[in-house]
Amino acid sequence: MAESYDCIVLGVGGFGSSTVYHLAKRDLRVLGIDQFPLAHDRGSSHGDTRIIRKAYFEHPAYVPLLQRAYQLWDEVQSEYADLTANSAEHLLLNRCGVFSAGPHNGIVVNGIRQAAKQHALAYEDISASDAKDRFPGYQIPEGFDIVFESEAGYLHVERCVSAFGQLAQQHGATLKTNEQVIGWSSTSNAVEVKTDNDTYHADSLIITAGAWSDQILDRLNLPLTVLRKVLLWHQTADRSFDVDAGRGGFFFDMPYGRFYGFPCLDGRTVKLAEHSGGETVHDPLNLDRSLKPSDTANVRKFLSEVMPNLDIEPSRHVVCMYTMTPDENFIIDRHPEFANVCYGAGFSGHGFKFTSSIGEALADIATTGSSALPIEFLSPRRFLQA
Ligand SMILES: Cc1cc2nc3c(=O)[nH]c(=O)nc-3n(C[C@H](O)[C@H](O)[C@H](O)COP(=O)(O)OP(=O)(O)OC[C@H]3O[C@@H](n4cnc5c(N)ncnc54)[C@H](O)[C@@H]3O)c2cc1C
Repeated sequence: MAESYDCIVLGVGGFGSSTVYHLAKRDLRVLGIDQFPLAHDRGSSHGDTRIIRKAYFEHPAYVPLLQRAYQLWDEVQSEYADLTANSAEHLLLNRCGVFSAGPHNGIVVNGIRQAAKQHALAYEDISASDAKDRFPGYQIPEGFDIVFESEAGYLHVERCVSAFGQLAQQHGATLKTNEQVIGWSSTSNAVEVKTDNDTYHADSLIITAGAWSDQILDRLNLPLTVLRKVLLWHQTADRSFDVDAGRGGFFFDMPYGRFYGFPCLDGRTVKLAEHSGGETVHDPLNLDRSLKPSDTANVRKFLSEVMPNLDIEPSRHVVCMYTMTPDENFIIDRHPEFANVCYGAGFSGHGFKFTSSIGEALADIATTGSSALPIEFLSPRRFLQA
């Protein structure tokens, strides 16, 4: 008879890897299953880096989750350093700072100020003349407000997923990769998960299936839309963007879209992307990974206006997916029919920074039925009330 587990985590990407880690740290028998290898490039958690910010313009209710996320990133980073014994390889989070620029009193800059004031977070308003010295290499549009958050920075995304997976295994978790889940069922105290290779049993199930969430949770009819998103790397001879020179990330709220990017990490290229826009994806397994002219049109305009020292042609691109909800806030809940099944979905293109704390919250829900972390605002019941 196959081994039975306390908990199965379906999908070991960004959120699933963190959830497996938190469960394994609690000495539970945990199984994580993924259709691809750990830290793969076929879902939503790849492309080298992800921005992390705390003064959250999207909604101040995220700030407590971010405060916990930062604490946990530091803990995981130190645990991972012990595992790798290699200082260069273990860096998960770099607090290099991020500046945001947008129209005077616009949603982004004002949202940052409001979240910072409400939660007593440090941030700076930067004048246009100071910005020329502090952020060389950018032509910031006239009249834009500029705010800087020194605690913000970036995470090495694949390394984080890999760290969670490796540490989880060190704490006793079992990972089955390259196995696709083809069905699951639940009774009040047991779940059965069938893959294309085997059948597994556990007391509870956590579903963190990213762009595949609406297929795995089809009976819930969650309001999810998957978008195709492109990350671009542009070469530059301008050393103003180098992380080694103390430079950080950026976020621009332009009239034709929102753009964000990272400092130059390799001495040659700057990675950036358009946060807005994106084509609907109907089959995440058959995502078009080629670079199309429509992928770069807005970025070209942005580069020519704001970052003219970057090559206009990208030297590299990567295609990824956002799983959007109508209000762009996440969905975290217990399954309405099965108390021993819970899920996290719809991370709407800004979830990765939260994987450390939301993985903890999902582990709490699976083991105790609820979490002390303030996640009520992420309940799907908000869509029923609307
Ligand atoms: C281009 C881009 C840029 C982004 N930038 C940022 C940023 O700067 N900051 C930020 O915080 N967030 C950012 N995000 C968002 C963030 O990366 C995502 O919210 C997060 O990575 C989603 O993680 P996930 O676990 O939901 O999905 P995934 O990491 O894709 O994990 C889902 C997993 O489920 C597995 N799975 C699904 N179905 C099955 C099945 N049937 N059987 C087995 N396994 C299955 C998949 O293989 C996958 O591994 C960005 C996203 C993209 C695409």
